[in-house]
Amino acid sequence: MNNADVKTRLLCQGVRVPEPMRTERKGGAGPAGGRYMVIQDMVVNCFVYGAAATSDIWLQKEDDTCVLVDENPQSPLQEGVPVHVVDDPHFYALKTEEGIPYKKIALLHGVDCLATTVYQKCIRWRTAPCWFCGIERSLEYGGTIQQKTPEQLELVAEAAMKEGASHVTLTTGTVNDSDRGAVMLAQCAAALKRMGLPVHSQVEPVARRYLELLRDQGTDTLGVHIETVDENLFERICPSKHFSEFNSAWEDAVEIFGEHQVSSYVLVGLGEDEEKTKTGIEDMVQRGVIPFVVPFRPLQGTVLESHPLPSFDVVKMGSVWAAEKMMEAGVDPFKNKAGCVRCGACSSVKEYLGMM
Ligand code: SF4
Repeated sequence: MNNADVKTRLLCQGVRVPEPMRTERKGGAGPAGGRYMVIQDMVVNCFVYGAAATSDIWLQKEDDTCVLVDENPQSPLQEGVPVHVVDDPHFYALKTEEGIPYKKIALLHGVDCLATTVYQKCIRWRTAPCWFCGIERSLEYGGTIQQKTPEQLELVAEAAMKEGASHVTLTTGTVNDSDRGAVMLAQCAAALKRMGLPVHSQVEPVARRYLELLRDQGTDTLGVHIETVDENLFERICPSKHFSEFNSAWEDAVEIFGEHQVSSYVLVGLGEDEEKTKTGIEDMVQRGVIPFVVPFRPLQGTVLESHPLPSFDVVKMGSVWAAEKMMEAGVDPFKNKAGCVRCGACSSVKEYLGMM
């Protein structure tokens, strides 16, 4: 078992941790997190709640030192390996003049990525939400505010930069069916870019003029997330989105943002067809898009909340395949300037690619 496999195991199984470190993430727009851990230079978004209670991997805390131990006899963690558990940054304790906690405006992801959902609602929720999505649940549970303004983000970014934040991920619920949130993202990107932060924005497929607006207002890298490349599965779990829109959006995006700067989440472990997944990833890479292969994590309060966690084999297969295809095509996620691909905590694709 190599380091990339260790990361895949951590992403799939989570980590058993002592009670005070457990957190229950009920909502959100991205892969549900728990704790960010750094192990052998790999940053990992480890979940530490729910099914993690039965994980083969656990965290031992001795004074100030943390050690990860894996029960799998093949694992290099079997004897225990030191791990750095990323502490909550100090800015989480700050509030705006109006009394809004900074951590309801933006969070630190991984070790250096400031991340926020600019608009925490989604028009899809009025008709047929995506089955994995908990974006409005975070709002119901009081973990965030509905809309983050550029001014609020500047305030939080200023504090976060003092603690090492060096790039940004901006995502959004789908605001409307015209610009789909791109205008709101562009306004926030412009403010953060003026502060010197490289910006990653994530949006549904939109007309080319909105992608140009995002670039012109400071977005460096773009995510247009298909979630699954298995069309039949997509139609079922993203019932109000349109599979056919992605290819042209990706092509426009690569022309506008350049090589290595456009990505798409590919969730694995949702019961997708293996051959369709391989073909879809290969096709995506041929268009210059980085497939950010991420294990599906069920969120409480969503249609798929009881879905089993993905198996190691399925996640490894998708990640290695994506890495091989990128290697062959010369698509390089290590040249990506900002956001999820640069952060890398939710996927082991870069670790597999780094070994080739
Ligand atoms: S990869 Fe993206 S979603 Fe995951 S921790 Fe990093 S910035 Fe957040």
